[in-house]
Amino acid sequence: MVMGDLVNEVDVAVIGGGPGGYAAAFRCAALGLETVVVDAGKRLGGACLYEGCIPSKALLHVAAVLHEAERAKDFGIDFGEPRISLDPLRKWKAERVVGKLARGLAGVAKSKGIEVVGGRATFEDSHAIRIGGDEPQVIRFRHAVIATGSVPARLPGLPASERVMDSTAALEIAEIPERLLVIGGGYIGLELGQVYAALGSAVTVVEMTDGLLPGVDRDLVQPLARRCERLFAAIHLDSKVASVRETAGGIEAELAGKGTERFDRVLVAVGRRAATDGLGLEHTKARADARGLIAVDERCRTADPAIYAVGDVTGEPMLAHRASRQGKVAAEVIAGRPAAFDSVAVPAVVFTDPEVAWCGLTEAQAQRDGRAVKIAKFQWAASGRATTLGRSDGLTKLVVDPESGRLLGVGIVGPGAGELIAEGALAVEAALLAEDLALTIHAHPTLSESLMEAAESLFT
Ligand code: FAD
Ligand code: NAD
Repeated sequence: MVMGDLVNEVDVAVIGGGPGGYAAAFRCAALGLETVVVDAGKRLGGACLYEGCIPSKALLHVAAVLHEAERAKDFGIDFGEPRISLDPLRKWKAERVVGKLARGLAGVAKSKGIEVVGGRATFEDSHAIRIGGDEPQVIRFRHAVIATGSVPARLPGLPASERVMDSTAALEIAEIPERLLVIGGGYIGLELGQVYAALGSAVTVVEMTDGLLPGVDRDLVQPLARRCERLFAAIHLDSKVASVRETAGGIEAELAGKGTERFDRVLVAVGRRAATDGLGLEHTKARADARGLIAVDERCRTADPAIYAVGDVTGEPMLAHRASRQGKVAAEVIAGRPAAFDSVAVPAVVFTDPEVAWCGLTEAQAQRDGRAVKIAKFQWAASGRATTLGRSDGLTKLVVDPESGRLLGVGIVGPGAGELIAEGALAVEAALLAEDLALTIHAHPTLSESLMEAAESLFT
């Protein structure tokens, strides 16, 4: 420490104000611990609120409205050609959606007496961090929670140009490019690819594996893949972009083995990496691996007894609700309570059209593990509710233990799958039997009946 440093002493210093960090801070404060959050942007919300979940879902809602208006032609309603004004669209997203939620989080922090300090934190030792920026200071703490999240992974060799976007830039919707190249057919490539396609871009997706959303059960991905085939100009699987060059009027991309194509913009969506650069972990006993990830145990403890880590910085799945659950666990453990991150069902939702959602054990994972499972499926073509919505392209499937009948996993594809998966997550977490779902009355006509129907198919 340097003479004259402003020194703050607290019980808990949380580094990073995303869903992992603010959940930890709110719970620490509720448990009577004096808590400060240090965030590079001096705000709560993190990637989730400013450059992730929330702005992308706002834009996907816009895409859904455009698609629904188009579909209405099927039953005789024509709203005409949509006229899209980007300024009001951006303003609505920034102020009415992101701004509203940001003000809410700031209000909660204030009401709980949590100070939010702006600046980047670097560990000086296991009980002190130094904050740079406009409010330079040293914060001494009994415990720290690292919740610094993740940043977009980069592809080497791409030109530094505003035409080459990561997800943060793409969410700004600076313009609607006539032709957009999306590198990566995962969560972001498909969600934002669908947003741009709905706004009018001709979207080409290049995915290096042999299918979209690698790792997800193929029968769940199939309806989404079919929709993407109709919506996008092209999908190249088993493909990579060999080179990207900026030219006078755009971008020239060489697609390996498929020649050169011209685009107006490129979205790079090839995964995210942990944000641990410059954190000074070498001054503590906590360590990051070669990919920057910090290893934690089920109590979110790092190798340093004073330091915890939660959220994306601890690895997959990099999802906001998993980060916030870990944040609450870390807070409880710091307060001396017997908490652990022992959730068996972390739901995952891809908010495309149709949505794809799953939780617990997937069929693909069971196959990889050589584990015997029973699969029950219900095709939405037989669902009254799906038919009234004009959407019979869905599927609900259950992964069940053949011996006990216990539900191990649930997968759903179709509109609203992201909401429906909550019942699956509760059932898997509570170790319910498939029979419990079959015997629970589900309101008619709803898409939730598909869970009951899938379960019933095991007993007929
Ligand atoms: P983050 O939200 O990344 O927050 C980390 C914070 O720490 C940031 O504010 C950062 O500025 C700050 N920080 C970093 N280093 C320092 C430092 N040294 N000092 C001080 N502050 C620092 N997940 C979902 O569950 N559902 C979705 O629909 C979803 N959609 C997404 C869409 C996109 C486009 C993206 C990119 C991500 C999406 N995610 C989604 C993932 C989700 O955003 C992350 O899993 C989640 O934000 C992780 O939370 P976190 O608290 O670990 O970190
Ligand atoms: P991702 O891991 O979901 O998908 C990346 C895709 O890029 C993969 O399919 C991969 O095979 C492909 N790829 C990698 N290198 C490539 C290359 N050189 N050329 C072509 N394809 C390549 O990653 P993402 O889409 O960047 O999203 C990052 C993370 O953010 C997600 O894994 C998820 O944790 C989170 N996220 C979640 C949501 C949600 O919950 N709805 C939405 C967006 C992001």
